[in-house]
Amino acid sequence: MAEKITPRAEDYSQWYIDLVTQAELADYAPVKGCMIIRPRGYAIWEVMQRTLDDMFKAEGVQNCYFPTLIPYSFLQKEAEHVEGFSPEVLTVTHSGEKKLEEPLALRPTSETIIWHTFKKWVQSHRDLPLLINQWANVFRAEMRPRLFLRTVEFLWQEGHTAHATAEEANEFAKRMIHVYQRFVEDTLAIPVMVGVKSDSEKFPGAVYTYSIEAMMQDGKALQAGTSHDLGDNFGKAFEVQFQNKEGKLAPVYASSWGVSTRLMGALIMTHSDDKGLVLPPKLAPTQVVIVPIFKASNKDVVLAHAQSIYTEIKRAGHRVILDDKDGYSPGWKFAQWELAGVPLRIEFGERDMQSQSLVVSRRDRAEKESIEASQLLSYVEQTLATMQNDLFLSAKERMQTRTKELVDYPAFTRYFEEEGGFALACWCGDASCETKVKTQLQVTIRNLPFIQNEEAITGRCVVCGEQAKHQAIWSKSY
Ligand SMILES: [Zn+2]
Repeated sequence: MAEKITPRAEDYSQWYIDLVTQAELADYAPVKGCMIIRPRGYAIWEVMQRTLDDMFKAEGVQNCYFPTLIPYSFLQKEAEHVEGFSPEVLTVTHSGEKKLEEPLALRPTSETIIWHTFKKWVQSHRDLPLLINQWANVFRAEMRPRLFLRTVEFLWQEGHTAHATAEEANEFAKRMIHVYQRFVEDTLAIPVMVGVKSDSEKFPGAVYTYSIEAMMQDGKALQAGTSHDLGDNFGKAFEVQFQNKEGKLAPVYASSWGVSTRLMGALIMTHSDDKGLVLPPKLAPTQVVIVPIFKASNKDVVLAHAQSIYTEIKRAGHRVILDDKDGYSPGWKFAQWELAGVPLRIEFGERDMQSQSLVVSRRDRAEKESIEASQLLSYVEQTLATMQNDLFLSAKERMQTRTKELVDYPAFTRYFEEEGGFALACWCGDASCETKVKTQLQVTIRNLPFIQNEEAITGRCVVCGEQAKHQAIWSKSY
């Protein structure tokens, strides 16, 4: 039996760590800040990958692979990019005993090597748009590591596109943030706020960074995905040009976009509880677990029935496992499957068989119910769909309840000191107001939502009282 998970009410961050380790999602590695993703965690990541990969392909994006090692000088070609990333870059200086003439960077992201290569791939208007993605690992030095949320090496996908016009690149960057929104809301059942980052929070080298921001159970924000309109910054830095239809050389415009294993953190901190992981059915590697209750005297007949139920559910296309292990009590098994977050549990013993019924329980509900065995398939189908929807709705309700519109600074300060959550408040657009709030309250602008309340923008900046330009989502964040 796993050790006890610290209750959320007692210590939210300890709860998170206990859950990640005891549900066997990930473990610490010998190198500080690195993480071992265990089979149960990786299986969830694989479902995310498969789902997203299909969504990317539906947008015409193709997969490819670039190397981990990048000549350090590449990072220096785009001024903002190097300034933003150099404090986080890990470098390789030796090959065996021999010192390298030029250090190599372990990629923190791949814009530079990709745009170096696009110079060869993009020559004519016929080569555009160019839409690629890679599933890869990246490295960023991390002072305050946390499993899944901040690790030195993490897994992600990074999409990179090249376009003939600035408008097209911008349109594509926006399109991808909406792909992420759809994925995170539909599959992970996590509602998000979609918008544009302020200049001080955008990606180094981007014209605009779009983000989706989710609210965790403790009211803090987690940036769940970003998409960047890179303008012609990387095209220029790597001297990529193309011959347009008129035969003239023209600049090439870019977008890049990514989500990472951080999504695992978002998933855990949105839905899970003190008993362990809670997984939305669409994402769960195992959607249904069957736990037959038997004794030595009736084992054969109970297990034969369990096998037939298993086959029935599997044939209907659901991901199901049969826990017929000997030597563990049903109660022990139930606790294990709850810890692992399997959405639906079916249990039965000989007496249930005689009455042609089954006992079912949803991971996100405390109660059990009895159903007729003949209704099993339709029950499973409906319940998985309902649970997916209920998880989304309850997360959405929490986000709505904990999003407060605020107009004056004393109330704004009090809100973050006493409750915390998202504050929807006007901003003049000046970075000094952001700095003040960050220093005093450790609160940042998460994004400026795409859907702006036009009336509110005619108001005053919540910090300085000057004429507001935007409505912003402010919050503490992971
Ligand atoms: Zn201001």
